[in-house]
Amino acid sequence: MNYDNEMQIKFKSVSENEALARTCAAAFILPLNPTVSDLNDVKTAVCEAVTNAVIHGYENMTGFIEMRIKTADRTVYIEIEDKGAGIDDIKKAMTALYTSKPEEERSGMGFTVMETFMDSIEVISEKGKGTTVKMSKKIS
Ligand code: ATP
Ligand code: MG
Repeated sequence: MNYDNEMQIKFKSVSENEALARTCAAAFILPLNPTVSDLNDVKTAVCEAVTNAVIHGYENMTGFIEMRIKTADRTVYIEIEDKGAGIDDIKKAMTALYTSKPEEERSGMGFTVMETFMDSIEVISEKGKGTTVKMSKKIS
């Protein structure tokens, strides 16, 4: 596909980079003049995916997270990849209210939020190898 614009950043899996990723994604799509609502949807989805990579992907270790964003015909394509723990049962992980960390007051709504705020979401993961979340959204 011929993309209008593309970028990628790689950052350490520390929680302060959740804001970095969200802000970068927002800045990247700003030339499309998104509505405040579309902008907030993308920022929230990015934040949920990066938080998951930090908390679940790398859990007690640190590693690197890569975010790739592309745009074509006012659709934004976002990939967030970690090389951490991976997910055993993707379908179960994506079920609303499912969390593997109920003791840490997680609500198990991250994937549901991503699904709701974006047009499409695909999760590719292998236990012990890592996880890639691919999302897209048409900017109205
Ligand atoms: P919340 O997002 O509401 O704080 P949560 O992170 O547990 O809670 P989801 O974001 O929906 O909920 O994720 C569901 C589950 O999927 C997680 O509890 C975790 O077990 C697994 N998971 C999600 N992302 C990753 C990842 N990048 N690596 C490994 N496991 C993941
Ligand atoms: Mg989450």
